[in-house]
Amino acid sequence: MTLDVRLFACLNDNYGLLVRDVGSGAVATIDSPDAEAILADLERSGWGRLDHVLNTHWHPDHTQGNARLQAETGCVITGPEEVRKAAPLDRVVAGGDTVALGDTVLEVTDTPGHTLGHIVYRSVADSQAFVGDVLFVLGCGRLFEGTPDQMWDSLQTLAAWPDETVIWCAHEYSASNARFALSLDDRPELAARAATIFAATERRQSTVPTTLGQEKAFNPFLRARDLAEFAALRKAKDGFAG
Ligand code: ZN
Ligand code: FE
Repeated sequence: MTLDVRLFACLNDNYGLLVRDVGSGAVATIDSPDAEAILADLERSGWGRLDHVLNTHWHPDHTQGNARLQAETGCVITGPEEVRKAAPLDRVVAGGDTVALGDTVLEVTDTPGHTLGHIVYRSVADSQAFVGDVLFVLGCGRLFEGTPDQMWDSLQTLAAWPDETVIWCAHEYSASNARFALSLDDRPELAARAATIFAATERRQSTVPTTLGQEKAFNPFLRARDLAEFAALRKAKDGFAG
């Protein structure tokens, strides 16, 4: 029950994520932002197979590779019902369901807010979570469909996981999120964290993954005391030009 994860940049600021259950060799891609880039990384990996696409939500930058990946590999596509409005989907899952990736059990959690049907996948045994567009390094997803209280509840659900949980985000938004966080919080620990992020960004290195513990310490959306504060922060970030 060990997972290998490969992360690679694609499209403008998306991350591709290939995940392999080491025991069985079963491979999944989390979302399908760019079929070409995913197939190329699969080739580089030497993993030799793609068994699953696991979609987190319906947005095209998470589903537009579904059809091509299935045509090329015969993989099974799993995700929330809402994916059907954008792309092919074989198995519908929702909070409380599990998906088997070889011997690894991925638990599905409902996380509405960014979209209404957004879900995330987590291996409890491996302490790894694939959170799509819900939680980012120092940020959270925009509220395209849901309400602030839906997103607040979704973030609270994630915040209840163990601090060591490794969080794999779907976008590189960290530098912009860090500038926003710095505008609210003058702790030197945050300044140090932001400096690390700016340096990595400068070198075009990924700042993902993060851990839940890091985010609980520094992410303003997880540090909000209540729904009202969260809603105000989300609104402020939407209009933040930094
Ligand atoms: Zn999205
Ligand atoms: Fe996205």
